[in-house]
Amino acid sequence: MDWHDTAEEAAFRAEARAFIRDRFPASYVPDPDGEHSLEPEDVWGYNWMADRVSEDPARREGARRWAAVLAERGWVAPHWPPEHGGAGLGAMEDFILQEEMMRARVPPVNGIGVNLLGPTLLEHGTDEQRAEHLPRIASGEIAWAQGFSEPGAGSDLASLRTRAVREGDHYVVNGQKVWTSLGQYADWLFVLVRTDPEAPKHRGITFLLLEATTPGVTIRPIEDIRGRRPSRRSSSTTPGSPSGTGSVRRTGVGTRR
Ligand SMILES: Cc1cc2nc3c(=O)[nH]c(=O)nc-3n(C[C@H](O)[C@H](O)[C@H](O)COP(=O)(O)OP(=O)(O)OC[C@H]3O[C@@H](n4cnc5c(N)ncnc54)[C@H](O)[C@@H]3O)c2cc1C
Repeated sequence: MDWHDTAEEAAFRAEARAFIRDRFPASYVPDPDGEHSLEPEDVWGYNWMADRVSEDPARREGARRWAAVLAERGWVAPHWPPEHGGAGLGAMEDFILQEEMMRARVPPVNGIGVNLLGPTLLEHGTDEQRAEHLPRIASGEIAWAQGFSEPGAGSDLASLRTRAVREGDHYVVNGQKVWTSLGQYADWLFVLVRTDPEAPKHRGITFLLLEATTPGVTIRPIEDIRGRRPSRRSSSTTPGSPSGTGSVRRTGVGTRR
């Protein structure tokens, strides 16, 4: 593959570079030493999700301002369709934008929500779920984390033990998740839970959207070898998805409320 920019790509690169130079808030100084991923060099070294809830008001405000600036152009979620708050960029433009942000050492916004949950809802969610969640991801208002792994259920999700039982218009979730990257900064988590214990072990699994402030959810730190805390262990023992929260059936046919 020829990675050299075409004329159109070079023009887009210049536009992205100028935009970042002119619009990245001067007041926003990302925290290079904040708690973030295990690979700071690989992921810009900054963590917008942490800055967004920083105890430093200037950093907090800067992170929120940066999200608002990017959202003006749909560049929080550049590859999403414009009707959902994205910019409808193709893969190469998206790549160039990310590359220019990396070059300028400015943080991207809302990675897990933008890159993991958003495309899942676009493909499998209901119109109601898309309307509720996508604009708030694309504006940087709400940040997400992924709760798939459990103690004893990592690569092989067939071992998943977290249960969710339907009670009226909500699910009661019981179980524990682990290695929830950035879980300490997330407003919502998308979790895999077992809803049909009688089904074969690779089936009967449901994808639930769970608000982190739901009563019964506790979040505990796991320290890495450096004594830092990039991930969180979370568990839920009482009501899971609150009334009115949607769920997406991972295995396919339709959705449940
Ligand atoms: C930095 C970091 C961030 C992470 N962030 C998240 C996150 O945000 N959300 C989240 O949900 N998880 C996250 N994880 C967890 C990650 O997805 C798990 O580590 C992964 O699922 C592997 O699980 P495990 O560590 O329990 O290893 P195991 O599942 O125990 O696997 C150990 C080894 O056994 C092999 N193995 C496992 N099962 C089988 C099988 N049935 N047949 C054959 N071989 C098998 C594996 O391939 C592997 O080589 C993160 C992990 C790290 C290190």
